[in-house]
Amino acid sequence: MPSTVDEIPTRAFVIGYPVKHSRSPTIHGYWLKKYALFGSYEKIEIAPGRLGDFIAALKSGGTDYAGGNVTLPHKESVFAMADRVDETARLIGAINTVWMDEGRLAATNTDAYGFAANLDDLRPGWDKGKIAVVLGAGGASRAVVHSLLERGFSDVRICNRTLERARELADRFGSHVTAHESAAASELLAGADLFVNTTSLGLAPGDIPAIDFTVMAPGGLVTDIVYVPLKTPFLAMAEDQGIASADGLGMLLHQAVPGFEIWFGRRPEVTDELRRLVIADMETGR
Ligand code: NAP
Repeated sequence: MPSTVDEIPTRAFVIGYPVKHSRSPTIHGYWLKKYALFGSYEKIEIAPGRLGDFIAALKSGGTDYAGGNVTLPHKESVFAMADRVDETARLIGAINTVWMDEGRLAATNTDAYGFAANLDDLRPGWDKGKIAVVLGAGGASRAVVHSLLERGFSDVRICNRTLERARELADRFGSHVTAHESAAASELLAGADLFVNTTSLGLAPGDIPAIDFTVMAPGGLVTDIVYVPLKTPFLAMAEDQGIASADGLGMLLHQAVPGFEIWFGRRPEVTDELRRLVIADMETGR
């Protein structure tokens, strides 16, 4: 709340096309209220043809936004338009968070942070292993692979329907990362510490192959970055086999933390209450 009538609210945004399904306003709106901060977080739908004008206005001070989130399909375009991109975003090749810093547009990618922070929360010690099998080689997979390497995994096996895309990732990240066909996933799981699904596979009932997770190393963990439904078919399969699992909703919640802190000046907490709020929001389908 404003302490004086002169105080100016801090404003942030999420831009995308479409953007109406974004959960980010629920998350940031919850924190703004919880910490009684004077600010707003708005959804702005921007068609690709208008992106350049929006970013130019932001950079020239023609808007009073402190910054915001960037979602599909703009994550790579804004990467190219930013004045300063940090090392994490450079390695991932896409950004999701921007802010104005002394008249310049700075950008980072917080998905890798969100992925690791979720598992730190749900399964502390998850990063003690060395071998990970990652299904999928899209944009989100790049953030996951970066996170795994940062946390010390030394053998990351990417399996993807389109082998070429897995190879691009392996080339990008170097000798600790290898590329494989999707069909090799079951075999590559033998002795692995972690399995991560980063594909939209499994959203339709019956569209995933049976996987034997019991061949993983003792204490193996299965996680899925898809969080609708919360218990995806991969997670249900692991649970049925008595293998530990962790859902991906917390990745969405935690990736929002660094942006909120940059724009609004307070590091927010991911709470059970926030998690319940976002689940309720998803259930109403808004
Ligand atoms: P993307 O760049 O479009 O990549 C999609 C991946 O899924 C590719 O590896 C693609 O394989 C694979 N795929 C799609 N349909 C398939 C099918 N029928 N059979 C086999 N493979 C299939 O998407 P993305 O941005 O990486 O996002 C992937 C998922 O992660 C989405 O569901 C997204 O909502 C979720 N996500 C969650 C979070 C979070 O915060 N929890 C963050 C980011 C993304 P090909 O290369 O062969 O096409």
